[in-house]
Amino acid sequence: MKETVVSGIRSTGKLHLGNYYGAVKNFIKMQDEYNCYFFIADWHSLTTHPTPENLHGNIKNVVVDYLACGLDPEKSTIYVQSDVPEIIELYLYLNMNAYLGELERATSFKDKVRSSPDNVNAGLLTYPVLMAADILIHKATKVPVGKDQEQHLEMARTFGNRFNRLYNQEYFPEPYAFSYTDKLVKVPGLDGKGKMGKSEGDANCIYLSDTPEAIRKKVSRAVTDGGPTEENQQKPEAIQNLFDLMKIVSTEDTLTHFDDLYNKMAIRYGDFKKQLAEDMVIATEPMRQRINDIANDNAYLQKVVRLGAEKARESAQRTIKEVRELIGFKSF
Ligand code: AMP
Repeated sequence: MKETVVSGIRSTGKLHLGNYYGAVKNFIKMQDEYNCYFFIADWHSLTTHPTPENLHGNIKNVVVDYLACGLDPEKSTIYVQSDVPEIIELYLYLNMNAYLGELERATSFKDKVRSSPDNVNAGLLTYPVLMAADILIHKATKVPVGKDQEQHLEMARTFGNRFNRLYNQEYFPEPYAFSYTDKLVKVPGLDGKGKMGKSEGDANCIYLSDTPEAIRKKVSRAVTDGGPTEENQQKPEAIQNLFDLMKIVSTEDTLTHFDDLYNKMAIRYGDFKKQLAEDMVIATEPMRQRINDIANDNAYLQKVVRLGAEKARESAQRTIKEVRELIGFKSF
């Protein structure tokens, strides 16, 4: 039997290069080898309170981007999280064995407390529990995600194992983060610090649907410094981030060329950024072309999402039925 794979992207907007290289690129390859479930995490997106007007458009953007990247609804189950209510039922059960201390210690939670102290809601605290429910509902073993999700995967194993121990059954298998490369990917942003992410602001992200002009403008404004002051010096974070981006989208020769110039203190950031922008334009070209076509085909989108919900619910209902029995719910 094929191993089961689950992964999702929050519907907080459109897919950016971090989502693509951290997660979706692996989705595309995995769909030929595994039993795949790929979803749009719209419940997860509620932690930041999207308006009713924005919510649907954001979900649609992610479905469109998924399809434009090459996810195939015939091979994979592509669904919207909120179409599968069984996930929340499992979330509730798992919450009964998730403890305040461990949830408060999660790095992503601590980051959010720091960055948005006025919005420390319970949904944010229990975000890893919902993510565990997303994975365990299909009894998945492989989860293609970026480096930022490693700790959440560890928590999903903890919650699944705790359930198993409580009911004395080897019910949930252990899910592990997966990437075809030897390490999980972290795509840096353009703001000189940390990862590319929607919550870091639009200027920090290159979206798959960005026009070439938008890409050039954003890259030209990326944070740099006054240039190297010694030969072969270690690169400061902002510069290293741009080199890391180049490593992802450019050829090895291009990367070596600019690396040598940096080491000889002969780099001109203007040229470097121009090259980086052009390589990003090329990398996103095939997706950009398809995004427009797919976004205009509502009948197709409706068909994809309906089929996905049907297949995802079938699997989720099977799990919930068994979980209810294990917990001790019985019909009269
Ligand atoms: P999110 O956008 O937080 O819902 O993340 C969806 C998926 O994209 C997860 O698998 C993340 O690990 C991945 N991801 C998001 N941002 C990045 C990034 N900057 N680098 C690598 N992976 C990322």
